Amino acid sequence: MSDVKTYKMMIGGEWVDASGGDTFESMNPFTGKTWALIPKGGKEDAGRAVAAARKAFETGEWPKMTATQRGHLLRKLGDLIAEKADALAQTEVRDNGKLIAEMGMQLKYVPQWYYYFGGLADKIEGAVTPIDKAEHFHYTRHEPLGVVCAITPWNSPLLLAAWKLAPALAAGNTVVLKPSEFTSASSLEYAALFEEVGFPPGVVNVVTGYGHEIGAALTEHPGVDKITFTGGPETGKRVYATGAAQLKRVSLELGGKSPNIVFDDCDMENAVKGAISGIFAATGQTCIAGSRLLVQQSIHDEFVDKLVAFAKTAKMGDPMSMDTQVGPVTTVPQYEKILSYLDIAKDEGAEVRMGGGKAVRPECGDGYFVEPTVFTGVNNRMRIAQEEVFGPVLSVIPFKDEEEALHIGNDVVYGLAAGVWTQSMRRAFTMSEKLRAGSVWVNTYRAVSYMAPFGGFKQSGVGRENGQDAIREYMQTKSVWMSYATETPNPFVMR
Ligand code: NAD
Repeated sequence: MSDVKTYKMMIGGEWVDASGGDTFESMNPFTGKTWALIPKGGKEDAGRAVAAARKAFETGEWPKMTATQRGHLLRKLGDLIAEKADALAQTEVRDNGKLIAEMGMQLKYVPQWYYYFGGLADKIEGAVTPIDKAEHFHYTRHEPLGVVCAITPWNSPLLLAAWKLAPALAAGNTVVLKPSEFTSASSLEYAALFEEVGFPPGVVNVVTGYGHEIGAALTEHPGVDKITFTGGPETGKRVYATGAAQLKRVSLELGGKSPNIVFDDCDMENAVKGAISGIFAATGQTCIAGSRLLVQQSIHDEFVDKLVAFAKTAKMGDPMSMDTQVGPVTTVPQYEKILSYLDIAKDEGAEVRMGGGKAVRPECGDGYFVEPTVFTGVNNRMRIAQEEVFGPVLSVIPFKDEEEALHIGNDVVYGLAAGVWTQSMRRAFTMSEKLRAGSVWVNTYRAVSYMAPFGGFKQSGVGRENGQDAIREYMQTKSVWMSYATETPNPFVMR
């Protein structure tokens, strides 16, 4: 194990081991081998991190800084991330097996969140109210919430951390970040960058460990004012309930079962690429996967033939290689979950048009690979059409007309995203209006930006990330009243 790297956590400006000294292994999903040892933090470490974040929120340099100074630090951080993007991307690939082509691009994009919210930090203005009480002056202040606990999943650790940390810090909060136990290394390396650009100790703490241990301890901690969580729907519900017990602010970005809807007037070549990017990019391990492909009956067979022909050209293998198109599944439990859904779909009567099992190819080595899979003959009531698989598994569902496409598209508990492929402007606007999803893409798919609000309808989440309003998720409004009356009127009645 000599080439195994050992990491430490960042609490209150110090690099520390877990209080019990325990560690756990992080596996490279392409080689199947342990490559890092991560501190296995628990309740005591959660307490230390929250105390450090609380102290930094209340005393020291951070609360004394102006919003302009905070913004400046965030922009400096963006510059440093840009410098280190390649190294951070490689750590992510080693940990989560996603393609270097995608993670390299993601990490080069992450600085934009710090530039954007850094720029916004000193533009959050209160108001003077033309108040309806004589001889009173009233104004509002937008203040930070306090200690923010940010919990992230394994699929895009640093991008999703930026969605939370950039607005939380711009607003003046302090943060305890807990990455997934499957992909903790990149967030620990990230912590060093906050230190290097000069964030005061305790403003950003990164702790690691299992979700049910340190994750739960953080969400239960009375010193946490806000939880911002991205992860699976079941964990999200548990986190929401825990937060509710103490009336904490909670925002949730959860799963999806997004419809990607192809009409017969689409540009077929582009729509085929859109369907592929919806489900096989990132090995289908994305919350916005277009895992239900709704195809208009009149072009169904031709479209599926083209899709399968294109998908068969996808190059599988080493995610560190720039020309790989489909990489391994990130975690062993996820790999087993995907395989179990392949059996569920077959038992339900879905027809395997392509793939349908483990990928056993020389280029896949000992990695956890699943064949890109296309099921046809799926109806929307099947489990394969209703439940999130989070893998390269596409369910093709035929539809007759717009009305039926909308009905099927909306007929799931989720509402994270939807795609529409059409050349009709009327249809594009109508579908965008009627699809119950937080993001709708027309003739494109999987586009995200720091400027574009992102979040779920229905059980896909609570709250929004990205865009200017996201900073409000980390602030609270105070009403300040001042009287300049010379006399206080009757004290027994309301003013
Ligand atoms: P997960 O719910 O298993 O874990 C997410 C995080 O929660 C991890 O850091 C984990 O350690 C922590 N956790 C687990 N149990 C906890 C508990 N009891 N208390 C507090 N924290 C706990 O999810 P995952 O498997 O890492 O990620 C995949 C899921 O994330 C998918 O459902 C996917 O759709 C979703 N996701 C959503 C978005 C989005 O923006 N909507 C983005 C990426 C992933």
